[in-house]
Amino acid sequence: MGQSSLASRHATPFADGGPRKMLIGADWVEAVSGRRFESRNPATGDLLATLPEGDAEDIDRAVRAARAALEGPWGRFKPDERQAVLLRLADLLDRHFDELALLDTLDMGGPISRTRLGRKRMVGLLRFYAGHATALHGETIPNSVPGEVFSYTLREPVGVVGAIIPWNAPLGMSVLKAGPVLATGCTMVLKPAEDASLSPLRFAELVLEAGVPPGVVNVVTGFGRTVGAAIAAHPGIDKVAFTGSHLTGQDIVRASAGNLKRLSLELGGKSANIVFADADLDAAVPGAAMAAFANTGQVCSAGTRLFVERRIYDEFVGRVAAFGRALRVGDGLDPDTQLGPLISQRQLDRVTGYMDIGLKEGARAVSGGARLTEGALAHGHFVPPTVFADVTDGMRIAQEEIFGPVVSAIAFDDADDLARRANASMFGLGAGVWTRDVRKAHRLAPALRAGSVWINCYQLMDPAVSFGGYKMSGYGRESGAAHLHEYLNTKSVWINAT
Ligand code: ADP
Repeated sequence: MGQSSLASRHATPFADGGPRKMLIGADWVEAVSGRRFESRNPATGDLLATLPEGDAEDIDRAVRAARAALEGPWGRFKPDERQAVLLRLADLLDRHFDELALLDTLDMGGPISRTRLGRKRMVGLLRFYAGHATALHGETIPNSVPGEVFSYTLREPVGVVGAIIPWNAPLGMSVLKAGPVLATGCTMVLKPAEDASLSPLRFAELVLEAGVPPGVVNVVTGFGRTVGAAIAAHPGIDKVAFTGSHLTGQDIVRASAGNLKRLSLELGGKSANIVFADADLDAAVPGAAMAAFANTGQVCSAGTRLFVERRIYDEFVGRVAAFGRALRVGDGLDPDTQLGPLISQRQLDRVTGYMDIGLKEGARAVSGGARLTEGALAHGHFVPPTVFADVTDGMRIAQEEIFGPVVSAIAFDDADDLARRANASMFGLGAGVWTRDVRKAHRLAPALRAGSVWINCYQLMDPAVSFGGYKMSGYGRESGAAHLHEYLNTKSVWINAT
């Protein structure tokens, strides 16, 4: 399908796909500076929207609105009232999901077939947090203090949360940050990524429509070095929930030291995906391929270090490469597209730069290895699924996060040394193991230093199951009951009744 017919089929959402201003308190506003920046479609280069370019002054306004909401009516919402707004928000998200999925496809390039699939997970997440809103509680703790002394704990909202999110899943990340904020009674200043702000803004409209009081959720658009840095440093923000690169995570840790903010950091990865010769290869081939290629490799837990038992190495690597070659790369608006573009020229330079590095390091490109420019692809940031073979553990393409559809395949013989090799990474977000031998899987799961270990599957997620990193992949957990605790303080109350 040609670019122009795709664009005209989706002409209405281009024009009406949600607000083009920032949300502070109850108002949709311009930046104090009056400046705006452009947001473009990564598949075509077309201008999608201009958005207010916020800065520290806007963060200051938003923090004041968030603090006022915390100390105002929202602070008096009962748990069942917070539950009710979350359930209404879940229903609204469900009703408007196609429109939001389309915004993400236009804004960050993800295929519409994939962005639409997020409905069950995202609506489910909001319902999961709604369930928890009435189930948060402290404890009564027996103490050994002489006399009649009673002690119990209260679980209180941490306060104003600064949420900084990336562009690879704009709607999903907005949901993951808003859910625990609303369940626990916190308030939030959300900063979407400058490359993909449209669905977070539209989502914020739905938050208001659901009956969440103004000021509970504020959205400030703009760049990381200004808006993001202002959130990290602002003394009125109690906690930062950040998802993004480990380098930015380190900046945030440093900038947040002024008032010792609580932090949760969901950072990058270079996740090991291990395939034994005894695996069900018909499942492992697509599993390993999509672990690395899904969302054009722009997934923090992508399985990009592919360890394959030497006996099946050539066959397996060849099959993953063939699977990648057969994936349809193109404009995400085309319902047949399986892989969209990379988000930006910067990301394109980075990914093609790593393709060159891989070749220079002596790896062999079994498939892909250079930018795609035929026909309409020339207008966007397209790269093919790329499989590097003959990779060794120390190569840069085996150690550094590429954030593109590039998998580095490494052979192994010695299963006993595998955990050490898989763990020889500064990251520790995900890991995969493919085998029919339950003993091997059972032995490896505790030995792998990663926040999620997927056995005979990859990237499975559920609202009730926590996700997060070891080592430089960050700390704190998202989804699951553990997520709520990141947004709560524990207060111990002592009553001397002697
Ligand atoms: P990427 O390099 O892939 O864009 P980042 O980690 O830089 O990943 O971006 C994730 C989010 O962090 C974005 O919203 C971005 O604007 C923001 N960001 C970037 N730099 C900073 C910074 N120094 N402080 C706070 N936030 C930042």
